Amino acid sequence: METADVVVIGGGVNGLSAAFHLAKAGVKKVTVVEWHHLGAGATGKSGALVRTHYSNEHETKLAVESLKYFEHWGDLVGGDCGFKKVGLLVLATSEFNSHLQANVNMHRSLGVNTHLITPKEAYELDPSLKCDDVSWVAYEPDSGYADPNTTAFTFAHAARDLGVNFELDTKVTEIRTSGNTVTGVATTRGNIKSPLVLVAAGAWANELLEPLNIKLGLVPGLARVTLFRWPPDRSSRHLTYLDRVNQSWMRPEGGNCTLIGAESGVHHGANPYQFSESVPQEYIDLCREKLARRFPVMRHSSMRGNWAGILMVSPDSKPIIDQLQPYDGLFCIAGDSGTSFKTSPAIGKCVAEWITQGKPITVDLTPFRATRFSEGELWIDENDYGLHRGTISR
Ligand SMILES: Cc1cc2nc3c(=O)[nH]c(=O)nc-3n(C[C@H](O)[C@H](O)[C@H](O)COP(=O)(O)OP(=O)(O)OC[C@H]3O[C@@H](n4cnc5c(N)ncnc54)[C@H](O)[C@@H]3O)c2cc1C
Repeated sequence: METADVVVIGGGVNGLSAAFHLAKAGVKKVTVVEWHHLGAGATGKSGALVRTHYSNEHETKLAVESLKYFEHWGDLVGGDCGFKKVGLLVLATSEFNSHLQANVNMHRSLGVNTHLITPKEAYELDPSLKCDDVSWVAYEPDSGYADPNTTAFTFAHAARDLGVNFELDTKVTEIRTSGNTVTGVATTRGNIKSPLVLVAAGAWANELLEPLNIKLGLVPGLARVTLFRWPPDRSSRHLTYLDRVNQSWMRPEGGNCTLIGAESGVHHGANPYQFSESVPQEYIDLCREKLARRFPVMRHSSMRGNWAGILMVSPDSKPIIDQLQPYDGLFCIAGDSGTSFKTSPAIGKCVAEWITQGKPITVDLTPFRATRFSEGELWIDENDYGLHRGTISR
């Protein structure tokens, strides 16, 4: 039987970030077990927006810490994560002006470089943008997007260089326990004995946790994106956009296309073992319509590709990052709810601190606790933009 100090289940960006940070903190024997290949889950399909605009300070703090990584990836991790600092514009209907202002004030208090600009100023940043339906736009010059696969791969390379062991094409079939103590995992290639197990299994977490009688209310959800070629008259000054009016997000891709996700295209209750990796025509039509509302010049753009990924949604659409009671040694990063790419550097760092120092140091993870549901404390942001559960993936 193999042994490890920590077993990480899942080779997505969160499992890999945790493995990297654990090894960096001096944990000698970290093993990552990945059923398929690195980035095989939501990570490889991610839109990979990197922004700090959240409507609560807890996720903002994770995003602020993580942005430092994306900006200095070569120094902090090594290699290139493909981060493009093109800026972010957040558009919300006028009824949410006070929320937009409150959130920007909160972000500024946490050190974010952000301010409100007028629609005219937004138009000057991107002359193809039509935003006469909003009164103010939140602008984050330092945000942008990364390459989710190179982000995952560079985390993995750095982790491997620090001694992390990888078991690919290997499925964890059971988390093993003795009483309330974790003793390791059973896999399709044998058992690994370990006092610490971190579940970072994305849309597949339930089948690992439910046999331990841990029910977190997690529901797999499908997130879909479509790619449209810029017409010749589209400005190449293309930022990233969170369009809370039309429930969509957009970013440039490949120097001449726009990648768009339209929130109403998310399907809950998807089967993580059986889903289409491409999108139906009606979703392409929906994306084109939403894109054209914001960028009329793109009404007749050519569709150049699309894909679907599967992720895990928590009951309040906020991640769960916790040590799972009653088991000693069982941790999870679960219920990413479509928004845990950009925060993965800080999430991995905090979980590693928790495991090696007894508690997360960089950001307080109390709001992300699993017990909030049984306590009746569903997490609702005071200054959200009228979004309900199901507005994910950006
Ligand atoms: C279309 C789309 C767009 C998105 N856009 C954004 C965005 O713009 N910004 C943002 O921040 N987030 C975005 N997200 C969400 C983000 O990608 C996810 O939150 C993040 O990638 C989750 O990473 P993870 O490591 O937690 O899970 P995953 O990447 O899903 O990794 C889980 C891994 O665990 C493995 N696994 C599962 N069960 C087992 C087992 N029993 N044994 C071994 N291995 C197992 C899986 O094969 C998988 O590789 C998007 C997601 C999608 C799908």
